[in-house]
Amino acid sequence: MTSEINKEELKKRLTPLQWHVTQEKGTERPFTGVYNKCYDKGTYTCVVCDQELFSSDTKYDSGCGWPAFNEVLDQGRIKLTKDVSHVGGNLLLLIANPDMVRTEVTCSSCGAHLGHVFNDGPKPTRKRFCINSASILFHEAGEPKKSNT
Ligand SMILES: [Zn+2]
Repeated sequence: MTSEINKEELKKRLTPLQWHVTQEKGTERPFTGVYNKCYDKGTYTCVVCDQELFSSDTKYDSGCGWPAFNEVLDQGRIKLTKDVSHVGGNLLLLIANPDMVRTEVTCSSCGAHLGHVFNDGPKPTRKRFCINSASILFHEAGEPKKSNT
């Protein structure tokens, strides 16, 4: 299921960097993202469609220069795709170096490019979701929510 996103409106709403990362599979320069060193309590949502993607509880300092998460809020909220574009389809190189296969992470709802996931993260998941700050928005925990009463 993919939500209909009006690309014209989206381009006006996003910054050029947010557009480049989410729509053109770009990557922000390391150590420049606004959330690289953010460890406040809260939730990170998709900058395009607002779907909740990551919790600050699973964010950690990987030292790689981008926000890193150990886990997703829900596996159904992201889509994983094998990405071998950076080796130019050199299969022998991939067979010799299986770690070179990157897995692209996109939002399951709107298809926005978020980043990549690697298997060199800390326990227990061993996952390192390497996510561009430009593709997510932080919402601080404890912000007033509408009550159901
Ligand atoms: Zn999205």
